[in-house]
Amino acid sequence: MREHLPEPPCPDSLQRPLRDLRISVTDRCNLRCLYCMPQAVFGRKFVFLRHAELLSFEEIVRAARQCIALGVRKIRLSGGEPLLRHGIENLVEMLARLHTGDGKPIELAMTSNGTLLAKRARDLKNAGLARLNISLDALDEAVFRRMCGSRGTPIAAVLEGIAAAQAAGLTPVKVNTVIKRGNNESEILPLIHHFRHTGIILRFIEYMDVGLSNGWQLDDVVTAHEILSKIDAEYPLRPAGVHCPGEVAKRWEFTDGGGEIGIIASVTQAFCHECGRLRLSTDGKLYTCLFASEGSDLRDMLRGHCSDDALRRRIAAVWRKRCDCYSQLRHAMTGNPTRKIEMSYIGG
Ligand code: SAM
Ligand code: SF4
Ligand code: SF4
Repeated sequence: MREHLPEPPCPDSLQRPLRDLRISVTDRCNLRCLYCMPQAVFGRKFVFLRHAELLSFEEIVRAARQCIALGVRKIRLSGGEPLLRHGIENLVEMLARLHTGDGKPIELAMTSNGTLLAKRARDLKNAGLARLNISLDALDEAVFRRMCGSRGTPIAAVLEGIAAAQAAGLTPVKVNTVIKRGNNESEILPLIHHFRHTGIILRFIEYMDVGLSNGWQLDDVVTAHEILSKIDAEYPLRPAGVHCPGEVAKRWEFTDGGGEIGIIASVTQAFCHECGRLRLSTDGKLYTCLFASEGSDLRDMLRGHCSDDALRRRIAAVWRKRCDCYSQLRHAMTGNPTRKIEMSYIGG
């Protein structure tokens, strides 16, 4: 008798369905953001993965196809800086061809630091990318250098990338800003002022304790409440609705019609209860949480001539036993977890 293969919905042990897949296509980056890849840790001697260790595009697509069979409806390419992966437009094209069992296209998105985007936004759109989130933590060059270790890349390059994404129709373009206390709170209002009335959605992300290299302390977190109060005092806001289930950003709109912003309060208002996100690392490990310490290897399977059915069963088994809710437990935790994985490797 034929064994029954897992089909969606594929709930984890807390009944959360698998919905999103984040794929890290490279662990390398041309920036050194102090909250992600601080220069002191990711310096000249840091050993990045060798090319042979990375999943190939064919391997990524094969894994993605099985994740879609288990319920994934949205795929986001990330890293590291995804535009550093040679030929990434080809991977976009390959992934954009994937459909769900009932023939619906999946939503394909990317998160990029925008520095290399200006000349490539149109090709990404033509390859089938639907949406783009671009990270930008400051409009002041000195603050940008401090936050992102930009090593000479000017903010103008990112702003050109944002404009190119908008012109190419990768809309709505979202700009992600991490606020770290004592570093870039001064940029909140200038960023708001710059992006109001442009159709670009600015989103503030609470600084998180991802990985072990950023020296995170709770005091460094500028809370969603603080950020909102600051903005609301200058540009009054009201809550906006929810777009889709599992949306991590709380949406707010300016009462004067200046557009909307988002707040991702991963530290002070954890959203683990509705987190349906699986991560595929650069070298082919599955992680069920941004704060996971161990991943489950898929690369050996992918390179060992396993069947698609076996691959799907493996992914389903990893998801079904998932019980992660790190952010909800963060405050209850004492001491340091023994090992955590860096965001650049797992895909932010
Ligand atoms: N290099 C690309 C970029 O910066 O957009 C994609 C990878 S990056 C790891 C993805 C997102 O994670 C970025 O928006 C970045 O700001 C965010 N991020 C990285 N480290 C973070 C941290 N410690 N806390 C909150 N957000 C973080
Ligand atoms: Fe690079 Fe993005 Fe991490 Fe900044 S947040 S160091 S741009 S991967
Ligand atoms: Fe999801 Fe883990 Fe973040 Fe909770 S802590 S929202 S489970 S990634």
